[in-house]
Parts: sequence; C-alpha cells; structure tokens
Amino acid sequence: MNSVAYEAIIGLEVHVQLLTRSKMFCACENSYGGEPNSRTCPVCLALPGSLPVVNDEAVKMAIALGLGIHGEIRERSTFYRKQYFYPDLPKGYQITQGPVAVVENGWIEIPGDPKVRGEIQPVRIGIERAHLEEDSGKSSHDLNAKSSHVDLNRAGVPLVEIVGRPDLRSPQEASDYLKDLHRLVTFLGICDGNMEEGSFRCDANVSVRPQGQMAFGTRVEVKNINSFRNVKLALEFEIRRQIELYERGETFEQETRGWDAATGETRAQRSKEAAMDYRYFPEPDLPALTITGDEVELVRSKLPELPEARKARFMGDYGLSEYEAITVLQDRAFADYFEAVARTCGNGKQAANWMLGEVSRTLNEQGTTITKLGLLYAFLAELIQLVESRTINLMTAKEVVFPALLKGKGTPRQIVEKHGLAQVSDRGAIEALIREVLASNAAQVAQLKAGNEKLKGYLVGQIMKAGKGKVDPQLVNEILNALLAEA
Ligand code: ADP
Ligand code: ZN
Ligand code: MG
Repeated sequence: MNSVAYEAIIGLEVHVQLLTRSKMFCACENSYGGEPNSRTCPVCLALPGSLPVVNDEAVKMAIALGLGIHGEIRERSTFYRKQYFYPDLPKGYQITQGPVAVVENGWIEIPGDPKVRGEIQPVRIGIERAHLEEDSGKSSHDLNAKSSHVDLNRAGVPLVEIVGRPDLRSPQEASDYLKDLHRLVTFLGICDGNMEEGSFRCDANVSVRPQGQMAFGTRVEVKNINSFRNVKLALEFEIRRQIELYERGETFEQETRGWDAATGETRAQRSKEAAMDYRYFPEPDLPALTITGDEVELVRSKLPELPEARKARFMGDYGLSEYEAITVLQDRAFADYFEAVARTCGNGKQAANWMLGEVSRTLNEQGTTITKLGLLYAFLAELIQLVESRTINLMTAKEVVFPALLKGKGTPRQIVEKHGLAQVSDRGAIEALIREVLASNAAQVAQLKAGNEKLKGYLVGQIMKAGKGKVDPQLVNEILNALLAEA
C-alpha cells in the first residue's frame, strides 16, 4: 500500500490572566488564593442592579500586548455577552469582546521547524485577534464526597484571549510559539506566566490533511493543556489519532477533546452538534471601548525592552551566540539576573557560561527558579572574577566554591580563604611538584616521549592530584611542556 504523507495544521488559543490590581469590571482585588469567596462584590457576584466598569489598567495591558505582537490597536471595539449556564459563572454569561477586538492582525516570528519546512527559516505566525474578557470562578468537585464547591475569587479576573491563525505546522512549532508568547507577556509584566496555576493557558486546534491538499481537514480542539511539554505531547497524540482514522478510511466530526496528562491521551468531550449556542449580543451595560492614538503612544513610551531587542543587545554587548542569547532570555528574571552578573563581573561570555551551566543544572536539580534559589548575583560575579584573576581554578570554583555559596557559607572570597583554596601559582613550587610526579612515573614519561600522546593527560591529572586541585592548570601545562622538551 502506498502511504500518504500528512501535514498537520495547528492554531492555538491562549488565555492570559492580566496582572492588574483589580478585576476587569469591579474594584475587587485580583490575586490568586485567599479565603474562598472573600474577593467578591455585587458586580462579580452578579447581584441585581450592579453595573460593570472597564478596568483602565487592563486596557493598557492589552494595548501593550498588541504592540508586542505587532498588532493593530482598534480605536473602537465592543463588549458582548456570551451566554452559558455554569455554576462558577454567576451572571449566566461572560462579558467578552464582539466582532471587533481591541487588538487585531498581529504576528510573532518563530524559528520554523526544519522537519516540516525543509529548512531553518524564521516564519511568521499570524494572530487573528486578542480580545479582553473576564475569567470565571472555580468549581471544585473533590473537596468532599457529597458536594461541589464554588470559589468566585477568580470570577471577573481580566483575561486577554490571543487567537492564533492556523499557521503552525508541527507540535514543535506550537510549543515554540507558546514559549514566545509566554516570554512576551512575562517581559511585558502583564502576566505572571504561571501555567500550573492557570494564569497562562492554552487550547490547541489541530487538523491534518494529505500533503498537497489545499482544503483543511476537520479540526479538533484540545483543551486543558497546562505546560509546554504537554502541548507537544497532546498534539503529537492527536495528529497520530487523526491520521490513523483517515488511513482506515474513516471520517470524523469536529469536536472538543480534553487532554489527560496522566494517560497521555485526548478524550472526546463534546461534539459539534452538542456545541452550545452562546446567543451573543452586545453588552448593554458597557459603552464601546475607545482608544486614542495618544493613549497608544503613552503605552508605547513605557514599554520595557522586549525579548527580540534584548536578544540583539545581548549578542552585541556581551558577545553571546544567538543560541546563548535565546537561552539566557528564557524568562525575564533569568535574563535580568544574567545581566546583573555580566555587568558586575565585566565578562558576559563567562556569565552566560555559568548561567547556562552550573546555575541551570542546579535549578533543574532542585526544581526551582532563579528568584527562589536565593543566590546573590554579586556572589556569582565575584566567583567569576576569582577564576579570571586565576585566584582559583575553574574546577575548584565549580566543585567547591559554588556548592558552598548555595549553602550560604559566605562570600566567594571568604570561602576561598577559609578553606585555603587559592591556587598555587608559584612557578618554583609547581616545577618541584611536577618533577616529583615525573620521577615517580618514569615509565609513562618514556611512553609519552615514544609518541603515546594520551599519557600527557594522565600526567597532568597526576600533577593536579598531587597539587590537591589547587595548582594553576595553565602554569602546569606550560612548565610540564618545558620540562618534557628539555629532558
Ligand atoms: P471558532 O469560531 O469555532 O472558535 P475560529 O475560526 O475562531 O473558530 O478558530 C479557532 C482556532 O482554531 C484558531 O486558533 C484557528 O487558528 C484554529 N483553526 C481554525 N481552523 C483550523 C484548522 N482547520 N486546523 C487547525 N486549526 C484551525
Ligand atoms: Zn467584584
Ligand atoms: Mg474562536
């Protein structure tokens, strides 16, 4: 049988919880946690007679996002009511934006997956719109066996929904796109980016079609994806499932499926026929949202340096490779920390080496973040300087001083002094040490001279060991070469 090659088409819908002080349409505090139902008022509880008022800070954040995704900021957009009945939605409808959204026609650039594009080239992923809306409350069904519980602290929290165009062609691209958006909203400071707590969440639409076919295949929307890893896994699973159906000659209906991270599968939730009719209509209690050019310029003038610009600057100012710059820019706190270290120690390349090496390894091992690690950037900078000035060698820095720093044993200098770690750079002392090692390894020296170059490394190892790891490796090499040449 001739097997057909299939192409995947993916479009993501991303919900971003905005870091405003108050909720979208009322003055209640917008913050995670807290005593259930303590952050509520007549507006977000939907008591009769209460009226919503648009949160200006949320609008400014939406504008900032719009500028970050190269979008058009609409002068006039409107709010609608999207009706559905759910216990955690007190009004019986969600206020969201209608046909015209505050931001339209944006894009972001991602590397492009060479596996599906044939070559590495940046591709632009279109963004149809980004609109303002409100979050729902939270239902819990597992607090006890008899009842379900509703917490309305989250009801009315401002969201921006970013609707991506179906321009992504592989799970890898979907994950890259999501990471880029995540980076953007955290750099803008409009979202805390916490995916586990749902501050940044994504639904993935996916269809497949035979390579070369113009028309899109039937799409499935996968809900409940809460990590970059899961977006890839869910899409890989769903693409395989759809291809298998087509290969068996079956068709399927458009539907919504849920991702189950525990089983690694998507499961049917509701079919298109069962899809709700939201009976959208314009929100009568809110005027149209109008944004002037001056307001847009004010937001633009206050934008922080965005990832793209910062990447270029890191490559220029600190001599980082593109890969290093992108990796250092994994999140804002990490990038800020790197930059503080680089500026303090004066060596950006070394700062990047440490951040991407020992520091990242430690963060992975401890499952923590740079902010929570609690290592002062000035200490890391001082450690780098101690290596640069050849006070200690790199091995001692990595294996002894860095772990001691993490345990809060003092400043790098204090640790070096307390444990006598400063390296021996007295030529005479090193030469004596080397002569001793050469004398007791006469056979290896002879073999080395006969051409067995591998023994050089062995001898250096013996010398470093004899010097208790504290001799300056550069001097060891220099003197060893001289001694070998003279004999
Ligand atoms: P709806 O109005 O049902 O939400 P939209 O046209 O707004 O549908 O699309 C929702 C999402 O689905 C968008 O992110 C879009 O990129 C994506 N999408 C649309 N068509 C397809 C398709 N054939 N395959 C994959 N994703 C698609
Ligand atoms: Zn409220
Ligand atoms: Mg839609």
